[in-house]
Amino acid sequence: MQIILNNKKNNLDNSPSFEGEIDPTQRAWIEVSGKAIEANVRQLISKLKNNCEFMAVVKADGYGHDAKVVSESAIKGGASQLGVATLKEGIKLRSFGINVPILVLGNLYAKKDLLTCFRNDLMPTVSTIRECLICNNIGKSNDLKFSIHLKVDTGMSRLGFDCIQFVQQFDNIKSLENIAIKGIYSHLACADEDNALNPKSRTQLQRKKFLELLNLINIDKKKNIKIHLANSAGMILGKDFHFDMVRVGLSMYGYEPVVKINEQSFLKPALFLKAKVTFVRTIEKGIGVSYGNKFVCDRKTKLAVLSIGYADGIIRNLSGKISLIYNKKLYPQVGSITMDQMMVDITDSDDIKVGSTMLLLGYQGKEAISPIDWADKCNSIPWEILCSFKNRLPRVQVD
Ligand SMILES: *Cc1c(COP(=O)(O)O)cnc(C)c1O
Repeated sequence: MQIILNNKKNNLDNSPSFEGEIDPTQRAWIEVSGKAIEANVRQLISKLKNNCEFMAVVKADGYGHDAKVVSESAIKGGASQLGVATLKEGIKLRSFGINVPILVLGNLYAKKDLLTCFRNDLMPTVSTIRECLICNNIGKSNDLKFSIHLKVDTGMSRLGFDCIQFVQQFDNIKSLENIAIKGIYSHLACADEDNALNPKSRTQLQRKKFLELLNLINIDKKKNIKIHLANSAGMILGKDFHFDMVRVGLSMYGYEPVVKINEQSFLKPALFLKAKVTFVRTIEKGIGVSYGNKFVCDRKTKLAVLSIGYADGIIRNLSGKISLIYNKKLYPQVGSITMDQMMVDITDSDDIKVGSTMLLLGYQGKEAISPIDWADKCNSIPWEILCSFKNRLPRVQVD
């Protein structure tokens, strides 16, 4: 957990350190429901093809939720592998004692990094022969096999072997004795597009390309090489996209990657962003609020000041566009969001006071606000909203 405890006993000025005594829910914080993550993983797994494994993607500190809580909950829910973006993220998970296979989704090109990867029992994503040879050498000098996943590019144009080269080089790679190929995978670029189920869509073409490539190479069935393609949006497209494993991020956190109208989601958001009211004031009609006075009230207005702002990762472009929930009712945020604070119009409330907790993201009663709503309002995507929250917001596990 991100709760900071200051263990420094010998402060130079001998002043006592109070940092550890600050209640993490005193100002603004993120509550994370491990149970929601666990339930989402279970639900998602129930929709998978038989024997298909679930890799929980926990990069970027578990999409801002706290990678430790997310990883442990996902494993409880049935995830058998984890995916991270960087070497450091993987090492951190190992330091928590997590022992399932972990795939580094980013590219490690330096020998030193690949060696660190090996020593921490992490699997690199390999996209070139050069890296295969480095991995093989590392395996050889340790008298072991270095477990890796090979990646092919089927249309994302990011990481991965070029398809034709991969087919030509696969037998060579297979012959390297000190690497163990644990997976062959590719990544979808457009799986969240409306037409993804159309046989001519880019997503279907990517799948076809991937299948063709798999047909052209000679995979030893006994080696248990996991074939994988789908992210959250790809998984929803159906069992044709599941292969031996899916790599799921967004859905596991409780959000549909594709917004389905009139359909109740079986997923539960795991993140609740909350902030306390630190000050209340009433202003007369015609008075402006916040920097630039861009909002001018048209009635006598009661304002709540919340101690949360863009330095916590609340995108300033959302100023005046969002609402907050208190006691199952919505209240509009008004004026520019400032670095550390924001104002909320609470004129219609008689129960909000200093010390009240307002909900920015999450659900309460019938009211729900999701990162998808925020993303729509500021030309972003829910993924970006979730990983914009800063470390200044403590993460608190609630169950
Ligand atoms: C981030 C990532 C995922 C997960 O994507 P979601 O859309 O959040 O499910 C899967 N695969 C790769 C390679 C990724 O980088």
